Amino acid sequence: MQPNKSEKDMAVAATASLTSSLKEYFGFEKFKGQQESIIKSVLSGNDTLVIMPTGGGKSLCYQLPAVMSEGTAIIVSPLIALMKNQVDLVRSYSSNDDIAHFLNSSLNKGEIKQVKKDITDGKTKLLFVAPETLTKEENIDFLRDVKISFIAVDEAHCISEWGHDFRPEYRRIRAMMQLIGQDVAMVALTATATPKVQTDIIKNLGLREPKIFMSSFNRTNLYYEIRPKVKKEVVERQIIQYIKQHEGKSGIIYVLSRKSTEEIAQLLNVNGIKAAPYHAGLDQDVRAKTQDDFLQEQVQVIVATIAFGMGIDKPDIRFVLHYNIPKSLENYYQETGRAGRDGQEGNCILFYSHKDVHKLEKFMKDKPLSEREMAAQLIMEMVAYAETSACRRKFVLHYFGETYDDSKCNNMCDNCRNPKELAEGKEQVALVLKSIKETGETLMINNLVDFITGRKTQEIENYGYHKKDLFGKGSDQSELYWNSVIRHAMMNSFILKDIEQYGLLLLTEEGNKFIKKPTSVKFAINQDFTDAVGSGSDEEEAKPAVLDPKMLNLLKDLRKKIAKDQNIPTYVIFQENSLEEMATQYPITIDELCNISGVSKGKAERYGKPFLKLIEQYVEENDIDRPDDFVMKSVMNKSSNKVAIILSIDKRIPLEDIAKSRNIKMPELVDELESIVMSGTRVNIDYYLEDIMDEEIIEVVYDYFREAESDDLDTAFHELKSEGVSVEEIRLVRLKFLSEMAN
Ligand code: ADP
Ligand code: MG
Ligand code: ZN
Repeated sequence: MQPNKSEKDMAVAATASLTSSLKEYFGFEKFKGQQESIIKSVLSGNDTLVIMPTGGGKSLCYQLPAVMSEGTAIIVSPLIALMKNQVDLVRSYSSNDDIAHFLNSSLNKGEIKQVKKDITDGKTKLLFVAPETLTKEENIDFLRDVKISFIAVDEAHCISEWGHDFRPEYRRIRAMMQLIGQDVAMVALTATATPKVQTDIIKNLGLREPKIFMSSFNRTNLYYEIRPKVKKEVVERQIIQYIKQHEGKSGIIYVLSRKSTEEIAQLLNVNGIKAAPYHAGLDQDVRAKTQDDFLQEQVQVIVATIAFGMGIDKPDIRFVLHYNIPKSLENYYQETGRAGRDGQEGNCILFYSHKDVHKLEKFMKDKPLSEREMAAQLIMEMVAYAETSACRRKFVLHYFGETYDDSKCNNMCDNCRNPKELAEGKEQVALVLKSIKETGETLMINNLVDFITGRKTQEIENYGYHKKDLFGKGSDQSELYWNSVIRHAMMNSFILKDIEQYGLLLLTEEGNKFIKKPTSVKFAINQDFTDAVGSGSDEEEAKPAVLDPKMLNLLKDLRKKIAKDQNIPTYVIFQENSLEEMATQYPITIDELCNISGVSKGKAERYGKPFLKLIEQYVEENDIDRPDDFVMKSVMNKSSNKVAIILSIDKRIPLEDIAKSRNIKMPELVDELESIVMSGTRVNIDYYLEDIMDEEIIEVVYDYFREAESDDLDTAFHELKSEGVSVEEIRLVRLKFLSEMAN
């Protein structure tokens, strides 16, 4: 039936007024995605569940209804930092600050009083609270008398142990609302929710016949790739190479531990990439500064633990690399989701090895059993994703409860780009399905694999399954193989994983049909990652490339010749070990030369050209395979002491004072300085030398080194002692000399 004219007009008018409110309050021209329907649902008093990817615009779904409604909306949010951010944002759209407040443990008594007054006066439209705030009796008493428009629960997945940020206090929200005694609509919002988590949210928040709005999680512009993580050095080289190919583009590298954030950030910096570590253990100020630097592109790459990202809104992050496997697919999806939020290029690469999985499992060792089991299942899903040969998109979307036609992936994942050869899997799938049937649908994936491959585990024996006909019928293939077959059967909807019951595998209707009448199913068997290894300081060193003695001799000859022409000692040009490294790595550009230890940018530019020419010629004439297209500079042994010393010298602090503050003796300080200079860093200690020595004496010592055959200290002292200089002074001038001439 056609709506009559006035109904239609009213509908148009309502829509028009929503859009004009959007413009009036937030300055946006139109709604994004499903925002409008969601807002209508909230405004008409329905309980509502919103599942929308990060960046989709969830906040607006409660902000706009809040400012349009009578009374105050309560917004539950898990993190104080996020809350403050949100309040600032809402205020920025309004002419008065009292439109939004937060109530949490960071406020003092006076501030709390003011907040409560603004609410009572009816000025405040949004009140952000932490779940803990709601459990305090004084707050409940207060809220009882407030006109509440509705309640919004942001990051609602926190309510579920099956989600990735479980917050038990979230479970008490419904009970608290009952104590407050107001029957208002509740809207729950989250960016990640597997079917299991959705059920948990609805149940635990007590949503009543909620309207569910689920946007597709598909991010068509993101490219997904898994690379085997081989040797630590190799991965690091791959990462550096990757970043250098993406010059000027912002990226995030996720790692497992705080320590690695700092190590890798340092490694990148040494290799000429501006990177900063980020983890929860850093000072608030440092973290804020790092975020700002990243937003303003003073820093290209953030090396972070999962602490980084919540509330970060940089639209043009071009790559997200995972140096370690994340704890769950939710984590992975949220972290990779930070790439390409503007809809442009976004590359997501995960370096994967079994060893990293074991490391994750070790982390869980001390947790209570139930938590450990849950974590183990989440990790297992992540592993299955990493090892699958199917379309990554299809796999992830399936995990979040979406059906996806992988022909639409458009080569935006590694498996679609380089498909593995497909094999007929009719009989294998049939064996899997029949095994499920024979064991009465009582097994989880790993038990089923044990059953098929014929492993007599405790569980199998307890049930007497080892006496069944099909037990061990697939023993000619590996566990990995059967895992892969089972996964494919799941993605093809032959098997349903019962999430309510620990993930037991059940046969679907299609599965039962297949048993009766098997049809052709083709798929690729998953890649084997067993040889890939994890990272860690206990890692064996990468085998060094071999030194080419012929090349080394040529380089030495060249050095001698240049030293003679310019009338300077050879060691000033390049140190012996630098030449050796060149004869191993064959650098042919200034950039590559800078990656040789002991070679600073200045030195490379000053002395490098003829060496590079020689190497290039040699490489060409002898048809040499250079070890890699580029050479990675490893972090020199720059202890925090060294960094501090360099910084202090920049500030022209007298050396004695530096020694004192570092708690070392002067000779030790000079040792450190020498090692800094020898490894290619220039330091300027003129301010200090001029303070303690005569200008002429400095010159005499300096000239001595210019002429000397070697930089040997004893010889120098012997030659110079008649001038009345001490060994210490000679060392200091030599430092100046090396720094200026060599670096
Ligand atoms: P989420 O919470 O879903 O991750 P946010 O609520 O933080 O996303 O919104 C993401 C970005 O989208 C914000 O910068 C926000 O200002 C913007 N945004 C939201 N709704 C609209 C809209 N209708 N038009 C334009 N921009 C919008
Ligand atoms: Mg949000
Ligand atoms: Zn794909």
